[in-house]
Amino acid sequence: LLEIGAPADSARVGRKRGAPQSDLDVSEGALRAALSRREFQVFYQPRIDCATQVVSGFEALVRWRHPEHGIVSPDRFIGPCEQLGLIDSLTEQVFDEGLRWLSHNLPASDTRLSLNLSACSLDDDGLADRMEQWCRKAGIAPRRIIVELTETAAMNDPSAALDLLTRLRLKGFHLSIDDFGVGHSSLVQLARLPFSELKIDRTFVAGAIESSESQTICRAVIGLGHGLGLTVTAEGVENEAVLAFLAAAGCDSAQGYLFARPMSGDDTIRWLERHTQPDRTARAR
Ligand code: C2E
Ligand code: MG
Ligand code: MG
Ligand code: MG
Repeated sequence: LLEIGAPADSARVGRKRGAPQSDLDVSEGALRAALSRREFQVFYQPRIDCATQVVSGFEALVRWRHPEHGIVSPDRFIGPCEQLGLIDSLTEQVFDEGLRWLSHNLPASDTRLSLNLSACSLDDDGLADRMEQWCRKAGIAPRRIIVELTETAAMNDPSAALDLLTRLRLKGFHLSIDDFGVGHSSLVQLARLPFSELKIDRTFVAGAIESSESQTICRAVIGLGHGLGLTVTAEGVENEAVLAFLAAAGCDSAQGYLFARPMSGDDTIRWLERHTQPDRTARAR
């Protein structure tokens, strides 16, 4: 049931092929070489409107297509890229590839693309202008892009976040607060930031059936988001029971293995074709 839409192997992160990933080299030299060889590849995961089951967009999630280690998860290389000052180059490659994918495959639709921004980019004064240029080059209106920033990143430096996020919002980008609930937000500061979406962290979503505590947190976060005028998305929706709980609690959209794992660009388009046939909902069945 879970993965009819997702090609089982190519999409799976951390699947070992050849050398064990514990030997992965994330030194500056290795990461620079991977950037210049364009070994980073963007995968896409659909997000679905809870009420209508319609696909409303995709989140771009980067992977390292490593010649020896196979597909490497971003958890292994985002941190090293940030520490080594390489995250700007990685962000640019992901945005460039994601925007081109959107403009080639979904040029005349309202489908949105969510892109993740690193905490390290908050003090990058030129980023908002560069993002606008990348969009213009790809022929994509900024309103079709949702920029995700984690709650922890936004709250570590609220004034830098306010500055960058305001600039992005003025250019028309939508903004999303990612992994909400695991950081420690000042709600006053949160309310001041120009977000339009809040994503409930998947630890609460995953527990929403067994744990009444997680249920309470999900309901409270949905109420908080709506009260602040934000749409609420749940990440990590793995089964029907969780989806039913979220829909009943008023959650707006959902992302997770129930619908599809992150997939390559071509597989995503095939998935979309299958799941937008009139007799089908987004859900696997
Ligand atoms: P995130 O932005 O919170 O992305 C959601 C993560 O949850 C993704 O992990 C996704 O594959 C995973 N996921 C989605 N549905 C399910 C589900 O039903 N169950 C479970 N267990 N997991 C699910 P992924 O792709 O490994 O990415 C991890 C994190 O790496 C992302 O978390 C994001 O913070 C970061 N990341 C990914 N791509 C980029 C990027 O291009 N730039 C930056 N700066 N960070 C990125
Ligand atoms: Mg995200
Ligand atoms: Mg998240
Ligand atoms: Mg996360």
